Amino acid sequence: MTNPLGQRELDSLREDADRFIAELDEEAYLHFSGQKDTYDLVPIYERHEALTKLDTALALGASVNGGRNVRELWKFACEGYLGNFVGEEEEKAAEAETKTVKVGDEEIAYRDLRPRIMNETDRAVRERLERARNEATEEHMNALYLRKHEVVHRETERLGAPTYTELYRRFGFELDPLAEQCREFLDSTEGLWQEKGDRFFRSRIGMGLGEVERWDAARVFRGANWDAAFPADRMMPALEASLGELGVDLRAQRNVILDLEDRPNKTPRAFCAGIEIPDRIALVIKPQGGPDDWSSLFHEAGHMEHWAHTSPSLTVEEKRLGDNAVTEGWAMLLEHLTIDPAWLTRMLDFPRPQEYAAEGATQLLWVVRRYCAKFLYEIEFHQVEDVTSMRPRYAELLYDALKVAPSDTDYLADLDDGFYSSQYLRAWAFEAQLRGYLREKFGTAWFSRRDAGSLLRELWSEGQKPNADEILEDVTGQRIELAAVADRIREALAAA
Ligand SMILES: [Zn+2]
Repeated sequence: MTNPLGQRELDSLREDADRFIAELDEEAYLHFSGQKDTYDLVPIYERHEALTKLDTALALGASVNGGRNVRELWKFACEGYLGNFVGEEEEKAAEAETKTVKVGDEEIAYRDLRPRIMNETDRAVRERLERARNEATEEHMNALYLRKHEVVHRETERLGAPTYTELYRRFGFELDPLAEQCREFLDSTEGLWQEKGDRFFRSRIGMGLGEVERWDAARVFRGANWDAAFPADRMMPALEASLGELGVDLRAQRNVILDLEDRPNKTPRAFCAGIEIPDRIALVIKPQGGPDDWSSLFHEAGHMEHWAHTSPSLTVEEKRLGDNAVTEGWAMLLEHLTIDPAWLTRMLDFPRPQEYAAEGATQLLWVVRRYCAKFLYEIEFHQVEDVTSMRPRYAELLYDALKVAPSDTDYLADLDDGFYSSQYLRAWAFEAQLRGYLREKFGTAWFSRRDAGSLLRELWSEGQKPNADEILEDVTGQRIELAAVADRIREALAAA
């Protein structure tokens, strides 16, 4: 048996975890913002070696005493321990993504295939690109993913849990009640998806569910027909104005780095790094415009304001660890402003805002149904002896949810580590319920009210000390219910 740790040992691990995460975030910020060519994770892992040893994880496990903070540190150490074994596979997979695939006469980097499909107007070309992607996944990626999953399953047992799923139950993830909510969500929105999904695809590309293939869905959801309504040069002004109405002066936030500079190797997708919470938060963006780019800027800005307002007096666990459905929920609250007809009308001279909002709701229905299926799949996947047996199950669960056939070659790649899918699902519910409350209390233009902003700032200051259920319960008296997402979607569809 492993003995529990003393207070001094716990404090030192907590400090070490704080620096470890800060260094990883700093490195990610520098690399992905294009300020540093290499991405050097190994020296950081070496500096904090003790944190990711099996003995540390087991000792932290033995020290969990019902309190949330030690359990969070234990989870962090277990994930670090598992991370030791998959580093090589992940590096190789990242390398394989940069290798090119031959499609016709063209050589295309594997990681560029998806964006190419989304932007391709010719259906036959889209199909060719997708089939090339599927073959390359099978040929170059799946052996790596398979090894990764097998190692994780083996090492999970050394952490003392019979399965990965069971390990996360012990971390306090309420996977089974959430799975039940997912099944109910899929059931209760089945007819809605069949009707609205079908109508939506027909109106966009003249094919209904049953005819639409995955390469068509990717193209339709890219929403290229709305590009002109979301210009690049209005993104930052709209964000500044929105935050300003909530009482947040973005330009005056000294703890926020707004990284807007264009550098050759800067990643095109917006991201936010909470390097020091709340003292040094970086928002990295290369504004390109279009609906996707706008929604990801507002999503990342939600993380940014949450972390920038987090109280400095909280513990490391409460600032950096805890329930990520909280920070994802704040991110989604701001992200979904960009599909809110009242906000679109206020911030942009937007053509047909109700129509766009309905399209956003349809896309949300697709994404949430997809995540329900994915999450149910992950729970099963992480409990079977032989993961290769799960290939047909992946195709079945995803097809049932979407009525568009996935590629079964994605059955090893389309998983979120650490059941992060469950945090997104809870965050969608948190957002729908909180938004409902804000609209009731402050009106449909709640986002323009200073007093709504005061409430948000107060809630942001709590970091992730309370979990998403506790914040919601405290503010609205409700528990997290995925059904609220369905109500929100129905409402937007009915208004169009
Ligand atoms: Zn996020």
